Amino acid sequence: MLGATGAVGQTFIRLLQDHPWFRVAEVAASSRSAGKSYRDATRWLEGPMPADIAALPVRACTPDEVLSPIVFSALDSAAAGDVEPRFAQAGRLVLSNAKNYRMASDVPLVVPDVNADHLLQLTAQRAARRWTGGLVTNANCAATVAAMALAPLHKAFGLTKVFVTTMQAVSGAGYPGVPSLDILGNVIPFIGDEEPKIEAELPKILGALDGKGSFAHAAFGVSAQANRVPVEHGHTACLSVEFKRKPSVSDAITALSSWRGPDGVRGLPSAPATPIIVSDAPDRPQPRRDVNAGRGMAVTVGRVREDTLLHLRLVVLGHNTVVGAAGASILNAEWLASRGLLNA
Ligand code: NAP
Repeated sequence: MLGATGAVGQTFIRLLQDHPWFRVAEVAASSRSAGKSYRDATRWLEGPMPADIAALPVRACTPDEVLSPIVFSALDSAAAGDVEPRFAQAGRLVLSNAKNYRMASDVPLVVPDVNADHLLQLTAQRAARRWTGGLVTNANCAATVAAMALAPLHKAFGLTKVFVTTMQAVSGAGYPGVPSLDILGNVIPFIGDEEPKIEAELPKILGALDGKGSFAHAAFGVSAQANRVPVEHGHTACLSVEFKRKPSVSDAITALSSWRGPDGVRGLPSAPATPIIVSDAPDRPQPRRDVNAGRGMAVTVGRVREDTLLHLRLVVLGHNTVVGAAGASILNAEWLASRGLLNA
């Protein structure tokens, strides 16, 4: 675990406790933490810290010090750019949460319940970069939540335009994150670099692997507005959408509620039974009530209705550090393991 001490790193550690296939063997973070025990280096945020992890020494983020074959990275983007390729060059499979390599043409950008099949691009990446390791990314947390709701609609009706307005939890800014005097009783209509990430990543996530190892991005436009709100966990996205073929509200609800994701995801240890839960309550989804749906790995969609300008509007909510970060990385690793693709 690289970046093991941060908000996403801690989520990884909680989710990997008692995992049937993977074991956290080593933890690493910045020079501020390296050399301390994990217990002393970490301001632990939720529930009890697992005793076996608490005793681990925090290592520096170098392939000489961290020897495990599978490397989950929750590094800050300032460090990920240099550190992650070093591990891939050293033959390790890196599953990254950072923004740095998401848009690289040979790096899969994967929301497992949307496009796990894009992980097959790893074989071409290994050949082109002449490394036996690999670099896989998962998406921006708000883009992940929006992509989960848009995937079934895109497949069935073809997206042409998407307007997305997000209300994003404070845990999305890591720890210590947004100062309490800035966010309590407030809404901040700006999250640095978030809107361009959502606009660029959605067409890549919903794109298609062309069989020759590169992606054809999906051809729809995205306009995003991102807001930080005083919610602990859970990003909400309000979507207004135009399609090639306008669906009825009931056809859209059927497409959403019958979505089962790509082949081979259902039944993996971290996969929720149902990736999209559709609520017909007039006032859902809500972070307080719905953020932990499917142990944080499902999104909840509600308020599916006709739009006055485009075709449809809807609201989707998902857990930013689980399905939007650590949980997605773990599910990607499970999918690769189930196909025998963890190693070259
Ligand atoms: P965070 O709480 O600030 O944690 C950052 C981690 O990176 C810490 O473990 C920190 O170690 C480590 N780090 C910082 N600078 C480093 C350096 N120079 N060398 C080595 N390690 C360094 O951030 P976070 O929210 O967990 O986010 C982690 C990554 O996931 C970011 O790239 C973020 O954009 C992405 N992400 C976050 C979310 C979310 O909801 N929070 C969702 C999706 C993706 P120290 O403790 O030693 O400083």
